[in-house]
Amino acid sequence: MPNKIFSRRTMLGATGLAAGGLLLDGGAAHGRTRDARRPAAPDEAWAKLREGNRRWAAGAAIHPHQDQARRSEVAQKQDPYAVVVSCIDSRVGPELIFDAGLGDLFSVRSAAQTIDPLVSGAIEYGPVELGTPLIVVLGHQRCGAVTAAAHALSEGTRLPGDLQRIVEDLRPAYKSARGDVDRMIRIHTTRTVAELKDGKLLGPRIARGRLKIVGAYYSLDTGLVSRVV
Ligand SMILES: [Zn+2]
Repeated sequence: MPNKIFSRRTMLGATGLAAGGLLLDGGAAHGRTRDARRPAAPDEAWAKLREGNRRWAAGAAIHPHQDQARRSEVAQKQDPYAVVVSCIDSRVGPELIFDAGLGDLFSVRSAAQTIDPLVSGAIEYGPVELGTPLIVVLGHQRCGAVTAAAHALSEGTRLPGDLQRIVEDLRPAYKSARGDVDRMIRIHTTRTVAELKDGKLLGPRIARGRLKIVGAYYSLDTGLVSRVV
């Protein structure tokens, strides 16, 4: 039953996928390019991430896009629907906590999701080059980097090597939060969102409604992501 999507996929060399039941698994979003199932608008992309996160938190993850068919599908071209900027923490892997898979997310990670020009460039890549409609800056509960920075700042000590750079980046949030680690995590997330929104490349895309930047907080206890800003 050739239809428009089928024809295009065939043309792109995905015949194996079609034979493997691509057209039968309506629930899985196998989006090679910008077909109807790949969220194109910021709010749609956020809704999709929230749905995935609810599945994860409920212990009902479906692990989409993690098979050989998907690997073949995205081998030549990717078109993720969101950029997730999160901490290096081993407990906050974006594809896991949003129940997503291969080719779905640009994942940018640094300690306490701190950013500098190199990291900003990595965040800008998706929206600017591929039209990715959403950036999520994700802080998380009991962030070790934020906790260590708060401790160093309150004691007036310096961390060794480049670790001190992380501390310095978190200093404004520490001051605003008056040392409260959980508040510091949320404030730092909000500040990072504001910083990204001010970017020369991202600002105009936001103004045109083609991009949103959301700040969020991940609870290690519940597995749920809640919006901060
Ligand atoms: Zn962390």
